[in-house]
Amino acid sequence: MSFEPIIGLEVHVQLNTNTKMFCSCSSKYLDVEPNTYVCNICLGLPGSLPSVNYEAVISAIKLGLSLNCRISNITKFDRKNYVYPDLMKGYQISQLDFPIAIEGNMKVKNIENKVTEIRINRVHMEEDVAKLIHDELSGEVLVDLNRSGMPLLEVVTEPDFRSAAEAENYLINLQSIVRYLEIGNANMEEGSFRCDANVSIREKGTDALNEKVEIKNMNRIKAVARAIEYEIERQTSQVKAGNRIIQETRGWDDIKSESKPQRSKEDAHDYRYFPEPDLPVIKLRTETIEKIKNELPELPEEKFDRYVNKIRISEYDARIIISNKNKTTFFEDVLTNFKKMDPNLVSNWLNVEINGVSNSLKDYELEKMKLSSKNFGKLINLVSENQINKNSGKEILSKIYISDEDPVELVNKMGLKSMNNKDELINMVNEVLKDNKSAIEDYRKGKENAVRFLIGQVMKKSRGTANPSDTEKEIIRQLNEQ
Ligand SMILES: [Zn+2]
Repeated sequence: MSFEPIIGLEVHVQLNTNTKMFCSCSSKYLDVEPNTYVCNICLGLPGSLPSVNYEAVISAIKLGLSLNCRISNITKFDRKNYVYPDLMKGYQISQLDFPIAIEGNMKVKNIENKVTEIRINRVHMEEDVAKLIHDELSGEVLVDLNRSGMPLLEVVTEPDFRSAAEAENYLINLQSIVRYLEIGNANMEEGSFRCDANVSIREKGTDALNEKVEIKNMNRIKAVARAIEYEIERQTSQVKAGNRIIQETRGWDDIKSESKPQRSKEDAHDYRYFPEPDLPVIKLRTETIEKIKNELPELPEEKFDRYVNKIRISEYDARIIISNKNKTTFFEDVLTNFKKMDPNLVSNWLNVEINGVSNSLKDYELEKMKLSSKNFGKLINLVSENQINKNSGKEILSKIYISDEDPVELVNKMGLKSMNNKDELINMVNEVLKDNKSAIEDYRKGKENAVRFLIGQVMKKSRGTANPSDTEKEIIRQLNEQ
């Protein structure tokens, strides 16, 4: 009997609006002391009145449209009631039956690299809860209310994934879309992009929907994929052993690569939802939605298509560039400023050479690069016009990566300009031959290595500025004349 997994994902996207979802507290809480940004509204004091952060509503519309959803003309908030120490009010303001966006889809690649469509059930708005900090030493649980009331979008898919790889690709795409829209930083480690996965298995060829297990606590996209794979294997071996799968929530431990049953606050399941009486129903005009749609930026997959089909760089290079929005801006800036430059040369220098430099410099990842697209373009020009050789180009790159100096000036200053002067090369070869009589004898005895040795001496003397093939020709010419 063979089994197939049925997987659905729920992702919480924290928004980067200036204030929280229903009060005017600052949302920039990451670097401040716990419990700094708190007011009577996000503390849930009796008599306090929430009001909607419209910037968050716009962000929700943008994400909904980008996921091909239908945006509801009427949307409202509901209270989701449960008791837990991270929830001050005893309820969370969320959306039940009129979410802002429904019925979307996203195309993702499956294991065989074929495109499959994942249906998006809904995108709804809600507020984040406080953060509980478990103090291992004292055994106490501390509460930080800075996160309480932060704006969140929850993106819920249909159970359409059939492998961990599809889920992983979906998350990478969704993360990129959030960043391209600039509505959040979608950072899993910081908790601004959180994913729960629902996994069940069934006999292949049937359409049964069996007991599902929810997995939480993954703080990297790779961890989501691993947790799903683990769960598929766990359920398969349980069923094969004749055991039943119990519906439960499991927490993923990335270090041990295993999940364990978790006591969940959502076990009760009776949230006694009812419409939030303190907030008005929001009516969205079709023209408003259309206007937002028309102003959406080019999204990752559209960019990918344009790079491959119009700019004509390889799919491989295009995939790497679109994975980082800053890279796409940098890449496009170079092409705009240097219209005649071969885009493949630019993508290659960007993905291979710049990447090499950023990997070699500790604590100096790409986001901190000082190099401007203008000086980067100038550098590529110097190499492609043979004014400097590629090694010198790399040397310059490692310097201007952190200084953004003008590469043309730097080449002159460092004396790295390729030796295009014929007389200079003739003299240098002449000197090298004078200093290496034994190599000349070796050459006369027919030792092929001798010429290579002499080329090496010229390259050394010229500090790499001589052209190797011109040098070889000149050495042989002078040897034959002697
Ligand atoms: Zn507040």
